[in-house]
Amino acid sequence: MFLKAVFPGKYIQGEGALGELPQLVRLLGKKGLILTSPTGREKILPAYADRWKEAALPVELFRGECCEAELGRLVERIRQEEADIVIGMGGGKVIDTAKIAADRTGIQVIIVPTIASTDAPCSGCAVIYSESGVFEAVAYQKMNPQVVLVDSRIIADAPSRFLVAGMGDALATWFEAESCRRTQSSNECAGISTLTGLALARLCYDTLMTYGHSARIACENHLVTAALDHIIEANILLSGIGFESSGLAAAHSVHNGLTALEETHSCYHGEKVAFGTLTGLFLTDAAPRQIEEVYGFCERVGLPTTLAQIGLPNPDRSHIRMAAEKACAPAEGIHHEAGRITPEKVLDAMLMADSFGKSRSRAHRGFEG
Ligand SMILES: [Zn+2]
Repeated sequence: MFLKAVFPGKYIQGEGALGELPQLVRLLGKKGLILTSPTGREKILPAYADRWKEAALPVELFRGECCEAELGRLVERIRQEEADIVIGMGGGKVIDTAKIAADRTGIQVIIVPTIASTDAPCSGCAVIYSESGVFEAVAYQKMNPQVVLVDSRIIADAPSRFLVAGMGDALATWFEAESCRRTQSSNECAGISTLTGLALARLCYDTLMTYGHSARIACENHLVTAALDHIIEANILLSGIGFESSGLAAAHSVHNGLTALEETHSCYHGEKVAFGTLTGLFLTDAAPRQIEEVYGFCERVGLPTTLAQIGLPNPDRSHIRMAAEKACAPAEGIHHEAGRITPEKVLDAMLMADSFGKSRSRAHRGFEG
């Protein structure tokens, strides 16, 4: 395996950055087509309508699922419009649909995330579901998006739970990168991590610890601050390059395992990944000081530290075992961890992460009287 790293072509972020869109379309091609949700069309586009007049970007409304039917429909519309750039504006599924449709038609894609809840926008992969929303496949694109354009005002105006979930997804990045480095495991672009990938994963972690709390408060009050911008960058750019170029391990596998338990379905990806990160700390014998730091961070920003907080209030060993077993499926990144990983070890680590979180919150309550 070679050293490998992948990046988006351009990354642009800031308050009002969406104003750059017509210019970017002119730079990359002749005709852009926007894919967005009804909410995107009502809440985001009107603010730019005047400025974009001469750019005349047609809008296609997303129907809610990144599935073959929707992809076929979008590919058809791209051909009808003779568009040579597709702009995916919205959450994860809109973005994924735009990426795959652009890849299939051989045109460029501009990604405009309207929430910062995962690290998917910068990556060159996307998830396809069935029409009823069941996972089908991961689709790998030939290249990462040509442009990722993030307007901090739009992120600040979205509910803060999305930003916090994005911090949960970003929290895993450094730990999974470090595990893959230790065992020389493959990253998400079929190579070995570069120093670049590792350094960005570490910067992601340090940025969360330094600015996470302040960014959450800013987002709750819909304020664009420097701390909020640092966390948007950590959630979208640093974590995006970090996971794809440095690899996945325990945290995401525990997340995947948790999806087997229906009670967790109302939790966001990043919230379950955060619990997966806590599990990983015990599974990999992390230093006690490190464990304290990560729990303290989760408590401050509002990420779950107990199973109850992800929909499992009375965790029963045999029930949680289903998640631990799924987390250990042969293709899972959890096997990038050192040593032999078994469902039994993962189950104990999950229950330990939960017990540790509960004990800290009891201690807190006691302290506060
Ligand atoms: Zn993730």
